[in-house]
Amino acid sequence: MTTATHANRRAHALARQLRDLRNVARALPDALLLLDRRHQLQWANPAARRLLGVVWSRDRALSMGKRFHAHPIGLWLRGAGTDEVPSPVDAARLLQLTRVDYDAERHVVLARDITRVQKLEQMRRDFVANVSHELRTPLTVIHGYLEMLEPDDVPALSSVLEDLRAQSQRMRQIVDDLLVLSRLETGQALPRERVPMAPLLEALRQEAEALSQGRHEILLEDAARQDMLGSRSDLHSAFSNLVSNAVRYTPDGGRITIRWALEAGAGVYSVTDTGVGIPAEHLPRLTERFYRVSSSRSRAKGGTGLGLSIVKHVLDLHNARLRMASQLGVGSTFACVFDSDCLLAPGA
Ligand code: ADP
Repeated sequence: MTTATHANRRAHALARQLRDLRNVARALPDALLLLDRRHQLQWANPAARRLLGVVWSRDRALSMGKRFHAHPIGLWLRGAGTDEVPSPVDAARLLQLTRVDYDAERHVVLARDITRVQKLEQMRRDFVANVSHELRTPLTVIHGYLEMLEPDDVPALSSVLEDLRAQSQRMRQIVDDLLVLSRLETGQALPRERVPMAPLLEALRQEAEALSQGRHEILLEDAARQDMLGSRSDLHSAFSNLVSNAVRYTPDGGRITIRWALEAGAGVYSVTDTGVGIPAEHLPRLTERFYRVSSSRSRAKGGTGLGLSIVKHVLDLHNARLRMASQLGVGSTFACVFDSDCLLAPGA
């Protein structure tokens, strides 16, 4: 074979590969835009017309920043706003945008239609909220009757009655926690109010004492001396969940430290215990609903498996994160880390 024929074949093979790649990009159900550094359109696949109203043959070299200036896509291209935006063609469709930089000069923008996923997610949320809401009334009635029955009146059934009371209380707690989660999940903005930390920390200490009933040493350290900006009731409930976990998972005689401190400008609320600890492989999954290291221990301690999910949601809504550190048999620290814009000098 001559060198020329060889080169010819190679060129053909490359051209075929290029065609194949284009065909794949054309067949993609997601919209794909190839943009240069100034967001000028280099190429678009056919799905871009359906989802974004961008037509390659018509819009080539057009600046997408200008084209979508008044649309949330424009905001996202400028590096602000959310990556979930309504389609400019049909506002009832929701798109998820992704940017992939593939060299210094150009990047790809992908837009995926997530309307269906979003609808299913909404259905799941509504279902959980409705079921929890519907269960609340019958549970309140059952609980009310159980409270009226005196174990002394029916000594033969007293232990059964106690068990029934404990279980109905547990069910109420699960339903209440699910309702709190549903509310947090709606994504509605929480109030941004002053949260005076000194009285909140004192209330948390008292809650710990009440739960512990003298079985643990409870310490409170306020090194930050800062108030917070956020939702008072939701922060209280998140902080209190960490306190109640520490008490529940720490054997008698252990120590629990509630601390509010500053770390490199961030506000850190933490609860440290000398309790049972958690094997490292469980840590990443602890904030999932109903995830427990040991279901029997959690149930025995009156847990619902929803506490840390609530904490995670409340922190997300405050742009904060949960930091966990634990050692089996030694103890755990759960810390909530808040940006400085959640902090306020106390007073006024
Ligand atoms: P639960 O109601 O079961 O306590 P959470 O969501 O609050 O649910 O916590 C999830 C799991 O994480 C618990 O079941 C427990 O196994 C573990 N856990 C949480 N806090 C602690 C802690 N301070 N010490 C040891 N284990 C903990």
